[in-house]
Amino acid sequence: MEYKILAGEDREVYGALEAEIKRQQEGLELIASENYVFPAVQEALGSVFTNKYSEGTPGKRYYAGNQNVDAVENLAVERAKKLFGAEHVNVQPLSGSPANASVYFAFLKPGDKVLGLKLDHGGHLSHGHPVNFSGMLYNFVQYTVDKDTGRIDMDQVREIALREQPKMILAGFSAYSREMEWQKFKDIADEVGAITFADIAHIAGLIAGKQIANPVQIFDVVSTTTHKTLRGPRGAIIMCKEKFAKEIDRAVFPGMQGGPHDNVTAAKAVAFAEALKPEFTEYAKQVIANAKAMADELIGLGFKIISGGTDNHLMVVDLTPQGIVGKDAEAALDKAGISTSRSTIPFDPNPPYNPSGIRLGTPAMTTRGMKEEESRQVARWIASAIAAKDDEAKLVSIREEVKALCAKFPIPSV
Ligand SMILES: *Cc1c(COP(=O)(O)O)cnc(C)c1O
Repeated sequence: MEYKILAGEDREVYGALEAEIKRQQEGLELIASENYVFPAVQEALGSVFTNKYSEGTPGKRYYAGNQNVDAVENLAVERAKKLFGAEHVNVQPLSGSPANASVYFAFLKPGDKVLGLKLDHGGHLSHGHPVNFSGMLYNFVQYTVDKDTGRIDMDQVREIALREQPKMILAGFSAYSREMEWQKFKDIADEVGAITFADIAHIAGLIAGKQIANPVQIFDVVSTTTHKTLRGPRGAIIMCKEKFAKEIDRAVFPGMQGGPHDNVTAAKAVAFAEALKPEFTEYAKQVIANAKAMADELIGLGFKIISGGTDNHLMVVDLTPQGIVGKDAEAALDKAGISTSRSTIPFDPNPPYNPSGIRLGTPAMTTRGMKEEESRQVARWIASAIAAKDDEAKLVSIREEVKALCAKFPIPSV
């Protein structure tokens, strides 16, 4: 996009935008939840669909003039159904956290008991953390990963479920690098009569690309963001069995939200069509191959990866052996042009605002076309930057190398 009008009308916003384009082009993005949208998604987001109000669902709106909005919303729904094999899809949730709020709202009353993965073991804030609405409104009981294996311990999940008799069992994560045992979660839920809820926000693109197991046919309800591995606009969708369609739709609107963001709905439809193409399967495959190569190289350089490796797009690195905390590693890497996020590690001895690890992910670099060779090179830069954390000159020289690599792999944009 040339942003000619914006450049003329508002120098301040345009200035920040120009700097952000440069930052995204010249830097290496390893934040596991970030990606670059398809150029067609970016166009749909900037379209006149943003001007419309359309509370309700296609064919049943509370405003006139929705024939074209109905068309794009129907396309988004049909494409999402095909992509994930879902019986029913609501494409209106504004983002991941509001989508999860709607799911709880559809099935639970305040105070009801839910099982979820603990935040510092890889769970998400909206999975019952005390500072989040989920932890304030509902009675979350948390399961953890095993101290030795770094993997979710399904025997522990069953034990807690039998003891606590939760109304809902939630399976999903923001920082866990292993396959989820969807069927085992379902079997445990059936034993105690709980609703099964999967939050696939991080891995939706890998599931759509058929590289990891899909919970949609197994679970009662599944939520996902559309902007992480899926490369769509910032937003979310909820998928469920047909028998829960009414509850979910009512929970989203009028329960939780007002009008949907129709430009985002259009962009979701575009992203789902892209994800249905064979090329997207190749993309998902490469994301995982890159993460495995990066993890392997890091392990060779003396790094400790939680669970010993990865089956998906991300890894959590325990920096205890390097004698550096996550915050300081994040700062050193940022100076070297490598964007990461500090992360808690399971059973972290340090407090959450100053955790012991960093989380790395390959979705964004893979979108730029980088492969295993570049992933290994990036791992070596990470090791050098962390070792040289107080050596400004060394960090600047790594930054120059990063910039040169990034110049060869431009970010997709319009
Ligand atoms: C990212 C994420 C969300 C929240 O998404 P937002 O769009 O940031 O609200 C919810 N659940 C999981 C597991 C996530 O990783």
